[in-house]
Amino acid sequence: MAKSGKKLFEPHLNALKKFDSEIYAALVAEKQRQMEGIELIPSENLVSESILEAMGSIATNKYSEGYPGKRYYGGNEFIDIIENIAIERAKKLFSAGHVNVQPLSGSPANMAMYYALMEQGETFMGLKLTEGGHLTHGHPVNFSGRQYKCVSYGVDKSTEMLDYDAIKKLAVEAKPKLILSGYTAYPRAIDFKAFREISDFVGAYCCADIAHIAGLCAAGVHENPVPYFDVVTTTTHKTLRGPRSAIIMCKNAFAEKIDKAVFPGLQGGPHEHIIAAKAVAFKEALEPSFKEYANQIVKNARALADVLMAKGLRLVSGGTDNHLMLIDVFKSKGLTGKQAEHSLELAGIYCNKNTIPFDARTPWDPSGIRLGTPVLTTRGMKESHMKEVGEFIVKAIENANDSAKLAEIKASVKEFCKDFPFYK
Ligand SMILES: *Cc1c(COP(=O)(O)O)cnc(C)c1O
Repeated sequence: MAKSGKKLFEPHLNALKKFDSEIYAALVAEKQRQMEGIELIPSENLVSESILEAMGSIATNKYSEGYPGKRYYGGNEFIDIIENIAIERAKKLFSAGHVNVQPLSGSPANMAMYYALMEQGETFMGLKLTEGGHLTHGHPVNFSGRQYKCVSYGVDKSTEMLDYDAIKKLAVEAKPKLILSGYTAYPRAIDFKAFREISDFVGAYCCADIAHIAGLCAAGVHENPVPYFDVVTTTTHKTLRGPRSAIIMCKNAFAEKIDKAVFPGLQGGPHEHIIAAKAVAFKEALEPSFKEYANQIVKNARALADVLMAKGLRLVSGGTDNHLMLIDVFKSKGLTGKQAEHSLELAGIYCNKNTIPFDARTPWDPSGIRLGTPVLTTRGMKESHMKEVGEFIVKAIENANDSAKLAEIKASVKEFCKDFPFYK
């Protein structure tokens, strides 16, 4: 069997190949890119063939507004089976009281959470975007910062980590209706119990968005806030390794509010083919091998962080506890985040530019890059391979303006990746 290349994708795309050669060709090229490069974007993953099949299934043909057993359309006998299985598996995976599996993606899930718990103009707290929060955690350009009043908390300037006493102090002043934890670019473990205490102390709803770390929480590699938080949202396509989508989990007391906020509050017909794929992803995550996977993600991140630090790169907060790390490339190597992202891309290594806490540069060309290990771990890489990956990264950064050298690295990266085929 070929280890990568065109042939592998064809079984899924026979009809497409005949009917639409342009889209077919772009998909084949994209698959090749995914297989021949080192993918370090921490919000990405590779889904299994079973998940791809469920996503590409005839469940996409069905309208099923409403919830299992109470739909606005006929013919939902089998769709109800799918959605109920997805719900039951998610409950088991996260020890959740109630689960809504209909949110279309992470941002709509957060919108539904806010819509269920706050009136327009009310105050909530989330982490600043530039220090690791998500756009939907109250940024002024986003609905979350426009419909609600967001009092953002930050990280401590010297440790670059959350300071729970400072957050508590801010919460006492701001009197928020809701406090949100869970982040997009925070490399350290989150003390969810501290957030529960702070929320109780000020009488706020205690919520989390575990989009990035959901797989680690499900596997017990990071503390899981679901059993004792009020509402927790998560995407399903990051460390959880499912289809591009989201779910909302909550205590039973909030079930009705959350369900009404999702439908009819914000959405129309749910994407049942994606719900089927989420059910499959939850089944995969309930298998013992997923615990090993999640553990290996973290081991690999630590190994990669160690290699990079040994080679003189400064990591925000001095390391990582989870699947991701932020590198201050500007301070370490005099390269901006945008330049580093671009040079790495030319070497077949994919990451994203990212602000670092207290960044003196702009979000469009910040001081940092963000790297994570979920994809490489899915491809079967272990700590020893992180040494090689780290060497590729440093070599590319140190030769950022030498396109011949970067092309050379890209060829070596392609060779390296051949040992880790994924779509068989
Ligand atoms: C990725 C992410 C989201 C958004 O998910 P989309 O599916 O891209 O809308 C929301 N919250 C956090 C913390 C994320 O990391």
